[in-house]
Amino acid sequence: MLTMTSSDPIALDARHVLQVYRRAPVVFDSGKGCALFTREGERYIDLISGVGVASLGHGHPRLARAIAEQAAVLLHTSNLFHHPLQSELASKLSALSGLPRAFFCNSGAEAVEACLKFSRRFWHAQGAPRTKFVAFDHSFHGRTMGALSVTWDDHYRAPFAPLVPGVTFVSAADPAAIAAAITRETAAVIVEPLQGEGGVRPLPQAAADAIAAACRRTGALLIADEVQCGLGRTGRMFYSEALGLRPDLMALGKALGAGVPIGAALFSDAVAAAAQPGDHGSTFGGNLLACRAALVFLDELTGGGGTSLLDHVARVGPHLERGLRAIASRQPAVKAVRGAGVMWGLEIDRPAAAVVDAARERRLLVNRTSDRVIRLLPPYVVTEEEIDEAMPLLEAAIASAMEASAQ
Ligand code: PLP
Repeated sequence: MLTMTSSDPIALDARHVLQVYRRAPVVFDSGKGCALFTREGERYIDLISGVGVASLGHGHPRLARAIAEQAAVLLHTSNLFHHPLQSELASKLSALSGLPRAFFCNSGAEAVEACLKFSRRFWHAQGAPRTKFVAFDHSFHGRTMGALSVTWDDHYRAPFAPLVPGVTFVSAADPAAIAAAITRETAAVIVEPLQGEGGVRPLPQAAADAIAAACRRTGALLIADEVQCGLGRTGRMFYSEALGLRPDLMALGKALGAGVPIGAALFSDAVAAAAQPGDHGSTFGGNLLACRAALVFLDELTGGGGTSLLDHVARVGPHLERGLRAIASRQPAVKAVRGAGVMWGLEIDRPAAAVVDAARERRLLVNRTSDRVIRLLPPYVVTEEEIDEAMPLLEAAIASAMEASAQ
């Protein structure tokens, strides 16, 4: 249990924390598996997992032990020296992704920044600089200036203009437009194989094929942003695989540290060959604590801990999908069900915020993205029983929000 110094964290937040979040008025101070608990001991089913981060669920005993052990031994030495965990993590990510080199940072946005920078670095090293990027409608790549520049929604971008120039956005529904947008001036194409914040939208196969063909034709590099959809969330190790995409660079974050902040950018040998000492860096990136957590996560994911969490997601995902499709068949407000594994969106015919609130009143946590999409990103460890408990709550929340908006 945490030591609480504030009797009213919500009031203190209102006075002292930068008001950039629309937080729900609920305070959690412990969790177990897919459950979160308030100070009063109320149990909520967590189907959003800290926006796709708590991959092993809350209070995971093996992760907790590893973090405590690591904290007692050594937390951080910076990148001035070697330590044994960063290179081990890099080699494991390399084996899983086929991209042989890793740079470690602390968030998804930082991983995207590294991918954007090293795409340009690659072309600079060729002596034929290319600086332009192609990104997609509805994309979300993060909030730092570079990541924001390849993020589509003007609502996020406009207050911070001017951003990095030379970005073209293209519709994933238009393969011809994709082919035309990617030219010999394009340093890299950046794509979420399964968009998260943009409304849980899988990249159409025709778009993936058009991207691959245009990258081959022009030499443009391909960056897969797998921050949200990667590392097993869809029941595949990476969703690029499902589309037959072979990225030159990949951005990872969220699930990787299972709650401990860590991001990673992965590079092909050709891209990595351009990097020189001093080109990039991070004080905290890849420290012992973060790497230890990520190693535990990867071990659980790939079955080192006994059962493979990747297999579990591949098994439980279809059960979740069936539950969501059953809701859609009964609730006419649900217009589409999209996703894979334990990453799903229900698009409804009106703003989804009221559904999220109604679900929370029923002690179920989901969130809204892209205005009309109810998003579910449960911990990978979610069970069929927990899904069966959650589905009636979600359906009741949809029904009651629809009733309220009809009045
Ligand atoms: N890329 C994708 C696909 C994301 O979904 C996100 C966050 O939602 C990011 C990048 C940015 O990650 P972070 O919030 O860790 O900076």
